[in-house]
Amino acid sequence: MPDILIVGGGFAGMWAAAGAARLLRAHDASPTVALLTPDPDLTIRPRLYEADPAAYRVPLDRVLGPIGVPRIAATATGIDTARRVVTADGPEGPSELPYRRLVLATGSALVRPRFPGADLLHDIDTRDAAVALERHLQALPDAPAGPGRFTVVVAGAGFTGVEAAAELAGRLRAVAAPRGMADEVEVVLVERDTVVGRGLGEAARPVIERALDELGVVRRLGVTIERVDERAVHLSDGSAIPSRTTVWTAGVRASGLTAQLPAERDGLGRLAVDGWLRVRGLPEVYAAGDTAAAPAEDGHTVTQSCQHATPQGKFAGHNAAADLLGLDRAPFATDPYTTCLDLGGAGAVLTSGWDRALREVPVAYAKARKRAINESWIYPPVDDAEEILRRAYFRVGQRRPMPEPTG
Ligand SMILES: Cc1cc2nc3c(=O)[nH]c(=O)nc-3n(C[C@H](O)[C@H](O)[C@H](O)COP(=O)(O)OP(=O)(O)OC[C@H]3O[C@@H](n4cnc5c(N)ncnc54)[C@H](O)[C@@H]3O)c2cc1C
Repeated sequence: MPDILIVGGGFAGMWAAAGAARLLRAHDASPTVALLTPDPDLTIRPRLYEADPAAYRVPLDRVLGPIGVPRIAATATGIDTARRVVTADGPEGPSELPYRRLVLATGSALVRPRFPGADLLHDIDTRDAAVALERHLQALPDAPAGPGRFTVVVAGAGFTGVEAAAELAGRLRAVAAPRGMADEVEVVLVERDTVVGRGLGEAARPVIERALDELGVVRRLGVTIERVDERAVHLSDGSAIPSRTTVWTAGVRASGLTAQLPAERDGLGRLAVDGWLRVRGLPEVYAAGDTAAAPAEDGHTVTQSCQHATPQGKFAGHNAAADLLGLDRAPFATDPYTTCLDLGGAGAVLTSGWDRALREVPVAYAKARKRAINESWIYPPVDDAEEILRRAYFRVGQRRPMPEPTG
């Protein structure tokens, strides 16, 4: 049985494994680490709005194998902190896994609405869902002609909704144009709020609005979806949008496993953790990534983002191992907060700081950064133990160099 059990194979869990393995190796120490997840792959979730979602994955064994961390293929079903045991369901049935230190990194999940027709909704929260949406889009040219065949409604104009709407404008045209159906393409962004992307900051909004105009994305603001059927989306103002495709993006919550711990949680279901990412009141349990409400710089709390999940994983793994070795733990710290929002064929927009100040850079530069993030920076190294362990060491302020702007 492992001394350190990491539950979840996303950004936080994978980097927690590397963070723990790095410290244990540096001290030539005997405690062992294992990672429990049902999925053999790391899903590159931030890319799931793009056109080829089946490809956005990295085999976990190519990261964990070289650093000597076994992967246990199972789903955690319960956590008993009194007994220090995780229960799991795997191919061989239920099992119990004792631990000395636990890192909970089971991420988050989209909250699906309950209105009539909600079972018809698509989403891009998981790789399977994003692949199902892509298959559906590819089949549209062969669907019976009629109103709304190439209309996609995107529900929610937050970060994910705006990126999805902007990208879908191009993806739909790529599907429809070869069959001479490009004129039918329409993307409609439906948002309960009266503005697009309120949480993305006032300064970025004009850039986002201009991009959506350029892409022809229609906005229906100040309304909610009341029901969906095979032919239309029905809104709270009594109107209906003919459409056969709705992509739901609104509302994400921490993994339900967080509710199994006798610990404080925030409104997103995230566990309250201390400055070492230890769950408050549970000294043997760490939480990282979308399951943890960790303190970020200047009194802020981390966002549910890859940007924050990655360093949290590194610190949580390091600290769980340091605990066992009787070494000082490292106080969690992260790089200053930034955002990089993809605007599809209209570029991208960068902000910096928690007040989301607009970075006045050429659109091509912002887009080059988004491509670098999505295609390179967030990918772990594979098959190379030294490089994986080197990257598991998080130094604040030492981001990789920016790519040169192109175009
Ligand atoms: C469309 C989209 C776009 C995004 N864009 C951005 C962006 O631009 N920038 C950004 O920083 N972030 C972005 N994010 C958010 C980012 O992807 C998440 O915050 C990040 O993946 C969180 O990492 P995590 O390791 O906490 O969780 P996840 O990556 O969700 O990983 C959770 C892991 O836990 C496993 N797991 C779940 N339940 C169990 C269980 N019961 N037992 C065992 N294992 C379990 C899962 O299989 C998975 O391996 C985006 C997300 C989406 C969906």
